[in-house]
Amino acid sequence: QRQMCIRDRRWIINLAPFGIMGLVFTNVVSNGLAIFTQYGKLLLLLVGTMLFMAFVINPIIIFIYLRCNPYPLVFRCLRESGLTAFFTRSSAANIPVNMAMCEKLGLDKDFYSVSIPLGATINMDGTAIYQCVATIFLATCCGMTLTLGQMVTIVVTATLASIGTAGTPGAGMIMLAMVLQAMNIPVDMIMIIYGVDRLFDMGRTCLNITGDISCALCVTKWESKKQTAVK
Ligand code: ASP
Repeated sequence: QRQMCIRDRRWIINLAPFGIMGLVFTNVVSNGLAIFTQYGKLLLLLVGTMLFMAFVINPIIIFIYLRCNPYPLVFRCLRESGLTAFFTRSSAANIPVNMAMCEKLGLDKDFYSVSIPLGATINMDGTAIYQCVATIFLATCCGMTLTLGQMVTIVVTATLASIGTAGTPGAGMIMLAMVLQAMNIPVDMIMIIYGVDRLFDMGRTCLNITGDISCALCVTKWESKKQTAVK
C-alpha cells in the first residue's frame, strides 16, 4: 500500500519541471530578456567569489597561521576531499573523507575528531556566499533596489543561516527561503534559480569542506607551536 502511495505521488513530482518552467516563463515575460543577462552575472559573480575564497582568502588564512606556502595544501584538499564533496553535495557524507585526510596529514586525533564533524555543519563559507549572492540577485529580479544597509543585513542573515544549514544536498536552498523571507522578498522567486541549484550546490559544498581541513591543520599546528614555546 505504501508503494502504491509513492507511485500515486510520483506523477505530481514528474509534473514539477513544467511548473518551474511556467514560473520562469512568467518571469521572462515580466522582466524581459534582461533576466538572461542577470543569470550570466549571477553565475560569474558566484563562481568568481567562490574561486576568490578558495584561492585567495583561504590561502591567506593558512599563511598567517603556518607561515609557509599554502597552495600545496589547498590543491591537495581540493583534489582529495573536494572531489567527493563536489559529487556527493553533502558535507555530512564527506566527514569520513576529511577524517582520513586529517589522519594522513598527521594531525591530532583528539582535535580533528571534534572539529571536522562540527565544521561540517557550522563552517559553511560556500553556502554563506551562495545565499548572499542569490538573495541580492533575486531582489534585483523583483525590481528592488537595495541600500547598503540592506546588503549588510543580507550578509549577516545569510552568514547566520549558513551556520544553521544542514550538511545535506540542497539544504542551503531551504535556508535561502528563510533569508528571502527575512528581507521581504517573495519566496516563490526561489524557483528562478531552483533548476541550476544542483550545480551551485556542488561548488559550495566543495568550498565548505576544504575550509574544515585547513582550519583543523592551522589550529593543530598553531597549538603545537604554542606548546613548544611554553616548554
Ligand atoms: N550541500 C551543502 C553541504 O552539504 C549545504 C548546502 O546546500 O548549502 O555543505
